[in-house]
Amino acid sequence: MAQVSLRNVSKVYPGNVKAVDNVNLNIENKDFIVLVGPSGCGKSTTLRMIAGLEDVTSGDIYIADKHVNNMPAKDRDIAMVFQNYALYPHMTVFENMSFGLRLRRYPRAEVKARVDEAAQILGIGALLDRFPRELSGGERQRVALGRAIVRKPKVFLFDEPLSNLDAKLRVQMRTEIHKLHLKLQTTMIYVTHDQVEAMTLGDKIAVLRDGIIQQFGDPITIYDKPVNKFVAGFMGTPPMNFLSGRILKKSGKLYFDDSDVQVKLVEAMNGNLLDYIDKQVIFGIRSEDIYDKLFVSEAPPENIVRATCEVVEPMGSEVYLYLKTAHNSFIAKVGAHDRPPINEDMDLVFDMSKVHFFDKDTEETII
Ligand code: ADP
Repeated sequence: MAQVSLRNVSKVYPGNVKAVDNVNLNIENKDFIVLVGPSGCGKSTTLRMIAGLEDVTSGDIYIADKHVNNMPAKDRDIAMVFQNYALYPHMTVFENMSFGLRLRRYPRAEVKARVDEAAQILGIGALLDRFPRELSGGERQRVALGRAIVRKPKVFLFDEPLSNLDAKLRVQMRTEIHKLHLKLQTTMIYVTHDQVEAMTLGDKIAVLRDGIIQQFGDPITIYDKPVNKFVAGFMGTPPMNFLSGRILKKSGKLYFDDSDVQVKLVEAMNGNLLDYIDKQVIFGIRSEDIYDKLFVSEAPPENIVRATCEVVEPMGSEVYLYLKTAHNSFIAKVGAHDRPPINEDMDLVFDMSKVHFFDKDTEETII
């Protein structure tokens, strides 16, 4: 069990590619941390530097208070699980899982006990004599997990471990990894581009962009209080709706206004937006904070937006409405049984207590 800490860590690849830019992270003992961001943002490079598979260009990495920059990977007491499982095809499941222990010359009885224990945790006890080619994708990924578990490492590192699985299995394995963390109580660092995986697995999430950590916090804070437009747009399905317009003052009240959407701000937000009166801002609202007016008993008229419903997409437990005004389009997530007519105008209610504002130039959150 261990803390992991990164201080001012950067990685520059040949050709001056800055993959990781001055990253600071403090990962507490037993925490499950997810590094998330779009492809190429530096997640894998960060993980590989922690693993010792990649040199650090500058900065310091500590595992359990030990400075590990120059420590070989094999001495770092970490175990890594990869997307492609990285199993040896000519070895059985037992041999694959025990390989690392045998290499380190653990006594035979200890090897067997550890493999049996891990196999039991993962429900693969019946597969120990099979070869990887005789396993499904999910089973292979369990074996890869098993190989990491038997080592009893201080830290588990996961590099997109579920990306090769189909959607249903991915959700199932996600839960298994969650349970595994609860059971093993070991520090885990998990890399994914999938924000749903990040939200559901992480005690804390670090959102990366262009090698820079944008925000580090618990999933709900990241979702409810994104620090900038990038984080706001990256976390959540469908992504947050963004509209460009200005802050308008009318009869002493503040409004967000573009040519075809005008909504009144809740007073609690006014203070933060006074400097933006008559200036351009970006307005953000999540799809679940837009309601079909038909289902709202008392909607303040100044929160109502009229739009054309172009597409109705039933998702089972909810329905996505693709809406259009003269200059804007946005998505609303409404109740499972709501079926407004297509290509007709409808009234939507914006929940103004939940909206976000971003500076047009810096894209930083105003409120
Ligand atoms: P992610 O895991 O977020 O997709 P990576 O950490 O793999 O991103 O890559 C970050 C950046 O570093 C990308 O621009 C990528 O092209 C670059 N990169 C990764 N590995 C190398 C390498 N071995 N040599 C040069 N550039 C690399």
